[in-house]
Amino acid sequence: MTVHTRPYLKDGIELDQVAVKGIRVTGHHGVFDRERESGQLFFADVVVHVNTRTAGAGDDLARTVNYSDLADATADVLAGEPVKLIEAVAERIARVALEFDGVQCVDVTVHKPQAPLHVEFHDVSVCIRRDLRDGALWADKRIGSSAGASDDPFDPGAGPVRDVLDQRPAQPVPALIALGGNLGDVEPTLRQAVSDLHRVNGVEVRAASALVRSTPEAGREQPDYLNAVVRLHTSLAPRELLAACQGIEMVHGRDRSDPSGNRTLDLDIVEYNGVVASAPDLTLPHPRAHVRPFVLLPWSSMEADATLAPHGSVVDLAREAGTDRVTLVHDRWPQPPSAT
Ligand code: ADP
Ligand code: MG
Repeated sequence: MTVHTRPYLKDGIELDQVAVKGIRVTGHHGVFDRERESGQLFFADVVVHVNTRTAGAGDDLARTVNYSDLADATADVLAGEPVKLIEAVAERIARVALEFDGVQCVDVTVHKPQAPLHVEFHDVSVCIRRDLRDGALWADKRIGSSAGASDDPFDPGAGPVRDVLDQRPAQPVPALIALGGNLGDVEPTLRQAVSDLHRVNGVEVRAASALVRSTPEAGREQPDYLNAVVRLHTSLAPRELLAACQGIEMVHGRDRSDPSGNRTLDLDIVEYNGVVASAPDLTLPHPRAHVRPFVLLPWSSMEADATLAPHGSVVDLAREAGTDRVTLVHDRWPQPPSAT
């Protein structure tokens, strides 16, 4: 079954497709007990959308998706923990495929040709597409913004413009994102979040600060946080960028209902091209960034001349915020994706 013929575009570049088809594994997915017990054959086709131009020019495997690893990861899901629906199998395969570096989008087809039907048939299959913008679109709906709420996932910018926070810039503009987390395997999560940001259409990560450790404010019994900031250039409107950030938080298991404030990942827009604006869902610059040492210190060491409108010099703000609760973890962390 081939349904996706439309080329996938990232920043105007048509992406390439790396496909592994007919991966065949015995699995135990299904609703019936006998399916769970004896198992049956499942087939999967996986097509990842990536830019292979550098790999092709340099003949370099490290610059593309290793299809053997992709096939192994797919087979692991097919043979792994049983689920009831092939929709769920496909979803899990899509998630592991999106974790491969550089993958923007994935098409997954799962076939179940031995499904227990009452009629003769050749195949049953489910075919899904998942791309990294879906998280952003989902978040966009969840925060109740009408910006970008087009039904067409290939045209996420068709919504009405309500205020300056919905306005896309004519040219890409700089913005600064603060990353933090204190639950789970935080360093790899932050590293992955930087690369997830870079993969969002209309976002290019240009630089990442040092990684710092910060102790929570006095009286808050919480694990330490790891924090960093990244400088990016974006053609998204501020609300679209917020939606992308919230989509990435969601992918990394952010639980906003946790009253303790502990989190696997927090992505805040510290500033967006000097815009000063406030709405119920988004305030620019971030209302507390100018007093947060764990934002100001990594930022000032990355960009010594930076200013935060309307507060002033970031180096001065960092000095005023104090350094006692922040320590350096890694000086050069992580490599900005555009430099690798
Ligand atoms: P915090 O980051 O303040 O600890 P959350 O991440 O839960 O808390 O964010 C709470 C809300 O803050 C979000 O739902 C978002 O709509 C809003 N918000 C307002 N301004 C910003 C900003 N500049 N960056 C990120 N979120 C913001
Ligand atoms: Mg936040």
